[in-house]
Amino acid sequence: MMARIELNGCVGHAMCNVAAPDVFDLDDDGYCIPPAAEISDIVRQQAIAGVKACPERALTLVDE
Ligand code: SF4
Repeated sequence: MMARIELNGCVGHAMCNVAAPDVFDLDDDGYCIPPAAEISDIVRQQAIAGVKACPERALTLVDE
């Protein structure tokens, strides 16, 4: 499972990071930096919570 972000949709709420701190990092301005690598099963539920927490619906999870 990979995380994708719609860069134009991210406005820096940081809610993804609050809900899933082990998955979604933030840059210095508070914008989301999704993981570049496959999301491990260990943090899968956290990743789902982080995606759901985004008010802009800027994040999606895809199976590859
Ligand atoms: S919650 Fe959504 S809008 Fe806010 S930083 Fe995360 S991805 Fe961007």
